[in-house]
Amino acid sequence: MDKQKALDKIAKEIENCEVCKVAKSGRAVPGEGNSDADVVFIGEAPGRQEAATGRPFIGRSGQLLRSLIKGIGLDDERDVYITSPVKYLPDRGTPTSQDIAHGRIHLMQQFAIIQPKIVVLLGRVAAEGVLQKKVFVSKEHGAVIDKKDGIKYFLTYHPAAALRFPNKFKPLLQEDFQKVKKILLK
Ligand code: URA
Repeated sequence: MDKQKALDKIAKEIENCEVCKVAKSGRAVPGEGNSDADVVFIGEAPGRQEAATGRPFIGRSGQLLRSLIKGIGLDDERDVYITSPVKYLPDRGTPTSQDIAHGRIHLMQQFAIIQPKIVVLLGRVAAEGVLQKKVFVSKEHGAVIDKKDGIKYFLTYHPAAALRFPNKFKPLLQEDFQKVKKILLK
């Protein structure tokens, strides 16, 4: 089966997944982009605009993420894959640890299909969801975390941090994205 078809099958499973929908609303947001991407970006959970459309990162955080992606010379639709550990809008805004643990099942299936070189973890929820350990973004961002599974995991801030405190977090995100670019060019 080709990679896009395999991802479409996972998306259907997410749409039909009753566990995913517990205490959530809106449309499924399985993720989108290049099914053969070298780089995958992982957020937290869909917001209102994403849940209304089924598309990841299209609200304010998404616009910033997409401009950071373009800033390192990549096309946000053709070159990368964008998704989240949690595939529906949580009723309480922030996903629970059960949401993240369950979402990991779908996420790992997506990684297994795409087989990216680098997974960019945007913030603590992405990092803890994928790495399954406590992570201090302020101490550990800007570096590769090696899980010895053939994928480089790169930690940075969620773009929402830069919307809240642009002077502090936007330059840090821009610096970290330059590091991602270097790793991809290696
Ligand atoms: N924040 C996320 O983490 N994911 C989205 O899709 C939108 C906002």
